[in-house]
Parts: sequence; C-alpha cells; structure tokens
Amino acid sequence: MFSERIYNFSAGPSMLSEDVLKEAQRDLLNYGGTGTSVMEMSHRSAAFEDIIHQTEADLREVMNIPDNYKVLFLQGGATLEFGAIPMNLLKTGVADYVRTGQFSTKAYKEALRFSDKIHLAASSDDKTYSYIPQQEQLDLSDSADYLHICFNNTVFGTKWNYIPETNGVPIVADMSSFILSEPVDVSKFGVIYAGVQKNVAPAGMAIVIVREDLLTGLDGDKYPTYMDWKEQAKAGSIMNTPPCWCIYMCGLTLKWIKSLGGLEKMKEINYKKAKILYDFLDSSELFKSAVEPKYRSMMNATFVTGDAELDKKFVAEATEAGFVNLKGHRSVGGMRASIYNAMPEEGIVKLVEFMKKFEEENK
Ligand SMILES: *Cc1c(COP(=O)(O)O)cnc(C)c1O
Repeated sequence: MFSERIYNFSAGPSMLSEDVLKEAQRDLLNYGGTGTSVMEMSHRSAAFEDIIHQTEADLREVMNIPDNYKVLFLQGGATLEFGAIPMNLLKTGVADYVRTGQFSTKAYKEALRFSDKIHLAASSDDKTYSYIPQQEQLDLSDSADYLHICFNNTVFGTKWNYIPETNGVPIVADMSSFILSEPVDVSKFGVIYAGVQKNVAPAGMAIVIVREDLLTGLDGDKYPTYMDWKEQAKAGSIMNTPPCWCIYMCGLTLKWIKSLGGLEKMKEINYKKAKILYDFLDSSELFKSAVEPKYRSMMNATFVTGDAELDKKFVAEATEAGFVNLKGHRSVGGMRASIYNAMPEEGIVKLVEFMKKFEEENK
C-alpha cells in the first residue's frame, strides 16, 4: 500500500502527467460550465465538438502534420489497426513487413490473414530483436502496396535509427510507444498509428494519421464499415459514439506538451532522462543493457543482471521501494523501465540511486 503516487515504469497503460490528471480532476464534475462531465455529454454536443476539434488541431500543431493528412481517433487500439492496415491499403496484395519485435510480428501475422503475398522484408529475430535491420538488409518488393515497420519496439527496447528509403512505397509505422516523444517528419510516412495508452491518454483508442491519397476505401466488401478509414475520415471520427473521454484526455496531454515547449523540448527532456539510465547501465558491473547504443529506445529501456533469480529479487525490492512495473515483458524476462513523457526526471534519478544501492548489496 502506498499513501502517495509512485514511480510507475509500466509499458502501458502508463503514467500520465500529474498536471493532466489534476486538470481532469478539476473539470470532472462540471466541464466548462456544461454541468456535466465529459464522460456524460453527448458526442454530438457543441462542447464535445469543440473538444475533438481542438484535440485534432493541437495534434496537428504539435506533430506538424501536413494538410494532406487526415487524423482519425479510432477504437480497438493499435491491435485492431494491425487488421485495418491490410483492409484499407492492400490493392495488389503485396506488402512488405519488417519484424523487429513482438508487435511488428503480430502486425505481420495479422496481415497474413488477408493476403498470401505478404512479404517479410527483414527480421532481427536472429539476435533476439536487439537491433534494427539497416537499409541494405531490407529485401523490399518492387511495387508493394506499403512497407510496415514498428518504429519503437516496446518489448525489446529498440528504436529505428533511420527512416527507410522505399522508392515511393508508403511507409506505415506503428508509433504506439514513440508518438509525441520527439519530433518526426510526418511527410516521410503514408500512415502513422499509435495506441494512446503508452504516451498520450488512458487506454481505449488509437490515433491514425493517414495521407489522403491512401484513403481509397476497403479492399473487401465484407469488412465492417467501422474499419474504413475513408468513411471514418468523412465522419470526422464520429461515425458512431467515439471514445469521448479518451479524446478529451489526449487533448489535455497535448496542451501540456505545448506548455512545456512542444516536441523539440520533449525530445531534449526525454534524451536527458534516458541518458541518466543508460549511462548508469553502461558503467554498472551488475546491470547491463542488451541493446547497442545506436538502436536504443528513449522510451523503453531493457536491462538484465544476467542472473534470472537476481532479476527477480531486484524487481521485488524495487516494487517495495515504490518503483513499480519494472519486470520485463513475460516473453523476454529481465527488466524494463518505460520512461515515457510523463515520467519525471526525478523518477529516473531515484531509480538509478536505488539500482546503485542494490548493486552494492548484491556484489
Ligand atoms: C502496446 C503496443 C501495441 C498494442 O496496443 P493496443 O492498443 O493494446 O492494441 C502495438 N504496438 C506497439 C508498438 C505497442 O507498444
């Protein structure tokens, strides 16, 4: 039992900014003089229309999204988009996928259900996904409908250190654990999508940013209308009742990021935070990172002691001390500290102090 807020290193759902939570709390019973909470208001009301429009406008501003891209707020998380991607984008049936970890593999397997011409362009499974295949290692098809990559690999703690050259083939990028952590050139991508529960808002939604020329409608006539990005874009994401609360919370997070100085500033803060942890890992005799520096994620840092029992002991003692959810993903073991935007620097400084102490005691 904790009497105060703790440092939550969960990969998702994860920490939200305390400023954002407090603002939501302030407006919880009576949002903007409407006499109701956002959870209770009509999705067709003027108040909610303002919320969704402002949220989209702030996302466009913060991410510098060009005008020829649509922004969609869709239910089903990133996982439902694994299916929506082939449903909306397959035309010839050929698509390239790169496997760099757990979620990119799931996306690949989902695509296989829609076409037998899905092509594995590269995979880093030969080294337990500890690296990112480089351009010359990508076996790209001549005229694929798209190339799918997972930009930041939440489970293994790696990040793409470049944007692939595809000769005009649109890149579809899962940015669930990367979105809003640093600037990205949206114009280099056909589609960017992200479940919001990692770095933006509570669970329940994905943000999909899609270039207009890719909105050509569904590839099959038996798919649910809800999956149709073109129809969703036409409906302004209000084809049916949208996840209103979640959209509102995204809006609050975007305002918070703007108040800090936008994504350039966010990047500066995040890299400084991650450096504190990685510098310690590189100097420690007990803990080590499994990822080469150039592929390291600034959002999910994975590490091990090399002894599974000691890892377990560390996770247990850290939890006692108020550093929770440091256990690595069940598929890989070890430890993982997810240090998204809302994790304060102080949380990492204190974690490193705790790790040093643990190292002293367990030499
Ligand atoms: C968490 C995560 C997902 C799955 O997201 P859901 O919203 O739970 O479907 C997909 N991709 C990445 C990179 C993730 O981190």
